[in-house]
Amino acid sequence: MRKKLAELEKLSRLLEPGENTRRDMLGQVANYAESFLARLPNSKTYVKDEGRKGFPEPHFEDEPAEMAELIEFLRREVDTTGISPGSGGQLGYIPGGGLYPSALGDYLADISNRYSGLSFSGPGSARMEGVLVEWMCELAGYPQSAAGDLTSGGSIATLSALVTARDAHGISSGVIPDSCVYLTGQAHHCIDKALHVAGLADARKRIVAMDDRYRMVVAELERMISEDRARGLKPWLAVASAGTTDTGAVDPIPEIAAIAGQHGLWFHLDAAYGGFFLLCEEGRERLAGFSLADSIVIDPHKGLSLPYGSGAVLVRDGQLLARSHAYYADYMQDAKQPGHGPGVDFSPSEYSMELTRPFRGPRMWLPLKLFGLRPFKASLSEKIWLARYFYDEVSRLDGFETGPYPDLSIATFRYCPKDGDANAFNQALLAAVHADGKVFITSTMIGDVFTLRLAVLNFRTHRDTIDYLLNLLQEKARELEGGAL
Ligand SMILES: *Cc1c(COP(=O)(O)O)cnc(C)c1O
Repeated sequence: MRKKLAELEKLSRLLEPGENTRRDMLGQVANYAESFLARLPNSKTYVKDEGRKGFPEPHFEDEPAEMAELIEFLRREVDTTGISPGSGGQLGYIPGGGLYPSALGDYLADISNRYSGLSFSGPGSARMEGVLVEWMCELAGYPQSAAGDLTSGGSIATLSALVTARDAHGISSGVIPDSCVYLTGQAHHCIDKALHVAGLADARKRIVAMDDRYRMVVAELERMISEDRARGLKPWLAVASAGTTDTGAVDPIPEIAAIAGQHGLWFHLDAAYGGFFLLCEEGRERLAGFSLADSIVIDPHKGLSLPYGSGAVLVRDGQLLARSHAYYADYMQDAKQPGHGPGVDFSPSEYSMELTRPFRGPRMWLPLKLFGLRPFKASLSEKIWLARYFYDEVSRLDGFETGPYPDLSIATFRYCPKDGDANAFNQALLAAVHADGKVFITSTMIGDVFTLRLAVLNFRTHRDTIDYLLNLLQEKARELEGGAL
C-alpha cells in the first residue's frame, strides 16, 4: 500500500508546480494580458465568428500541454471573435468592464480560496463582502436594518429579491393564481424568469402602460391595482426599473413607491443597469426615491465596470432576505451560529442561495480602494454626458431621428430613408456597423419599429469612440442611400 501511495503521490504532486514554474506561468499570463491590453484600443469590438474550428477532440488527455501553446489557443479561439466586452467600443446591450485590479483581486481570492460564505470559516472574507454590501446599502440610502448579498449577476439577485418578496407577502400555492404583479413591457426579462423559477408563473402579470418616454404611467398602475382589489384579487408586487435595458428609461420611482405603500405591495426596483449612477450628481437627480424600494438589484459588473460575475441584491428589511434563505444542516453545526446581523459577523450564505461560493470581495474592494471613488464618479458622469453628446450630435445628422432624451446613458435612434422600408434600412445600417466592427451597437423593437440603440457604460468609452460611431453612421447611411442596399 505504501508503494502504491508513493506512486500516486508522485503523480498528484504534479498539481503543485514549484516556485520557478509558477513565476514562469504568471509571467507568460502577464505578458499575454499586456499584449491584449496594448492591442485593445485598436482592435475591433465585434468580429463575426466563422463557426467552430478549434477545440480539437479529444478535448482532454492524460499528457500535459505547454502554457505558451494554451495561451496562444486562448488568443486564437476565445479572444478573437464575438464581442470584446472590455473594449471601449462596446456600446451594445449593457457594456461590461474588466478593471485591471479586479483581475488581481480575483487572482488573490483564488490563490487563498478563502471561503466567504460563513464568518466562522472566513471571518475576514465574510466581513469584506459585508462591508461592500453595507456600502451599497448606504449608497441606496437604506437604513441600518438593510442587508444584501453579492451574487453572480442581476438575474440571480432578482430571483433572491422576488423569493424574499413572495415569502414576506405569504404568496403560497393557494394564493398564486389570484396574486397580481405589476410591471411595464420594458421590464427586464429576468423578472419573468425569476417569477417562473420562484414558482410564481401562474401569478397574474399586469402590464402597465408607459408614456412616450417608456416610463410607467403611475395613474394606470393605481387604476389597475384598484380594479384588481375590487375584484377580490391580491396585488402584491410592483416592479420598477431604474434604467431599462432597452431605452435606459427610469420609471417614476417615488410615485410608484407611494402607490405600492398605500396598497401594501412589495416594491422591487431593478437598478441592475442604472444603480451605480447614484455615484454621480447627474444620476442621483434621476434616481430620486431609490431608498423607498423594498428590494433593489444592482450590478457592479455593469456600472462599476467590474468583470462579469458581480451582481447584488439589497433588501431594506434585511431580516426578510435572511428568512427566505435560512437553512440548517447537521454537518455544519460547528460553523453556523444563529442570530448574526450584517456588519457584525455577517455570513453571506445566510442571505444567499449559494453555500460554497466564489470569494467575490477582492475584485470589487481592491479597485474601489486602490483608485478611490473619485474616478468612478467621474466615469459615470462622463457616460451620462457622452450619451447626451451622442444624442445631440446624431439628431443633427441628416436623416437621423432620435428617441427620447436619455434619462441615463442609453439613447435610441434610427435613420429615416428618403424612400423604402425604414426597418429594412436600419437593419442594413446595423449590419454595416457590425461589419466594420470597431464599435458595437445593437437594435431593439419599439412596437414594430426597428430601432438602433447605444448604451454607454464601459470605463474605456470616451468621446473619440462616440465620434467614431457618429462618422461611421453618417458614412454608412450615405452609402446605403446611394443604392448599396
Ligand atoms: C442586465 C440587466 C439585468 C440582468 O442582470 P444580469 O447581471 O445580466 O443577470 C436585469 N435588469 C436590467 C435592467 C439589466 O440591465
